[in-house]
Amino acid sequence: MTFDCSFLEGLPLAADRISVADERRESHATDYGTERLDDEGVLPNAVVWPASTADVSAVLAAATDHGVPVTPYAAGTGLEGNAVPAHGGISLDLTRMDAVVDYRPADRQIDVGPGIIGSDVDEYVAGDGLVFPPLPSSGDISTIGGMIATDASGMGTVRYGEVADWVLGLEAVLADGTVIETGSRAIKTSSGYNLTDLIVGSEGTLAVVTEARLELAGRPDQVRGGRAIFETLDDAVEAVFDAVRTDVGVAKIELVDGLSATMATEYLGSELPDAPMVFLEFHANHGVETEIDLCRTIFEDHNVARFEMSDDDAEMAALWQARREMAYAVSAYDPDLEPLHPGDVTVPISSYPEIVRETKRLADEYDLLVPCFGHAGDGNLHYSVLVDPDDPEQRTRGEDLYREIVSLAIELGGTATGEHGIGEGKQRYLEPEHGAGAVEAMRAVKRALDPTDTLNPGKIFPETADGERLTEAER
Ligand SMILES: Cc1cc2nc3c(=O)[nH]c(=O)nc-3n(C[C@H](O)[C@H](O)[C@H](O)COP(=O)(O)OP(=O)(O)OC[C@H]3O[C@@H](n4cnc5c(N)ncnc54)[C@H](O)[C@@H]3O)c2cc1C
Repeated sequence: MTFDCSFLEGLPLAADRISVADERRESHATDYGTERLDDEGVLPNAVVWPASTADVSAVLAAATDHGVPVTPYAAGTGLEGNAVPAHGGISLDLTRMDAVVDYRPADRQIDVGPGIIGSDVDEYVAGDGLVFPPLPSSGDISTIGGMIATDASGMGTVRYGEVADWVLGLEAVLADGTVIETGSRAIKTSSGYNLTDLIVGSEGTLAVVTEARLELAGRPDQVRGGRAIFETLDDAVEAVFDAVRTDVGVAKIELVDGLSATMATEYLGSELPDAPMVFLEFHANHGVETEIDLCRTIFEDHNVARFEMSDDDAEMAALWQARREMAYAVSAYDPDLEPLHPGDVTVPISSYPEIVRETKRLADEYDLLVPCFGHAGDGNLHYSVLVDPDDPEQRTRGEDLYREIVSLAIELGGTATGEHGIGEGKQRYLEPEHGAGAVEAMRAVKRALDPTDTLNPGKIFPETADGERLTEAER
């Protein structure tokens, strides 16, 4: 749909902060999750790079007045089409609001603009022995604003929690341009509705985050990592469940199945064995060896073939690079195959062995390649259904398989999306997961904060069957 965005010229924004050039609009029409297969997205009519909260407020107030949708955009690494402008309008690119606004090491807190890259926060505070612990695997290419909007999480989540756990407060702008502050500098509060947690994970549909107050953690004195190699995938996932149930002090516990290991070896040229593996990292200020010994004992109960720990920085870096680049390795594996959608389901840890087993069984039944890896300690499974994009029958088969896995995760008491959000890709699962009443309550929140459906329309909630923007009555 085409929206007239000429009103932007009347706003107090520098000319180089607005573009209607095709190249700029095209680069804001897709994200990592949608740029593959044949999904070309809808072009926004204009791209705006605000420099301040006042800029964001002016754009939102004017866009709401003119009935023009606004979709916040950051690094575009989202995997569910979260930042693609489903109905055109304005792509509001927050990446230039990337300053450190205030840093209070004594309180272990930092206030940042939303466009700062996650690992830049870590670099900024490293000199004081501090770290922002919930960074996703994409922490060096994605922004704090994007992580907050998707409630991202990562390899350290098994020990440190998700992004929501580290956000003390926000400055955010509502659809009508109103600037609000949420939370405080205190590490706890029971004052009023928790608007911080409401905005975290709302995928830019309720407010635009213009500043985030983050909590930091101390870096551990002892860090040891390594890998455990198993003969069977079943043993590997049962070992993970047992280690988490026993409360072993792991900071990272990641599954890599044999197929993913083969793909990583081909992609990186690394020498990963062609076998199911669990990558591990232990953090402690003292007694790290005790935790490692406990983990080894548990893994031995599950027939671990090799349990290899190291404190060599280079070795550990190579190991984690292989894990971080797994998504690229999967995409690059076979030029004739593409991942259908990035799969991200999460189940209670006791059901983790079952979801992994069933995924592999379904892969055999549907006769498709499905590499599995992920943040196993959280019960999180990343799976990619690989299909030939030019073969409609194979695509349909892949879609059926994909859906079976998500539905099973929900049946097991889990979630359709552990960390990537609903975006466009997971809308059909919102109601099966939450029930009609809860979804209507979510819609009521959206109506209350954004009655004109200005912010990121077409996300989270299923739309009309023909993909049209919802009418006021339908909202
Ligand atoms: C290789 C790879 C590995 C990944 N690994 C992980 C992982 O381990 N864990 C994980 O959770 N995710 C992972 N992701 C997904 C992705 O990196 C995260 O979802 C990330 O948080 C998105 O950040 P972004 O800056 O790219 O945001 P974008 O993709 O640009 O936007 C994401 C969402 O945030 C909204 N948004 C952006 N900025 C704002 C703002 N200031 N205010 C309001 N809304 C805003 C957008 O509208 C959109 O809905 C991975 C992606 C890739 C490509």
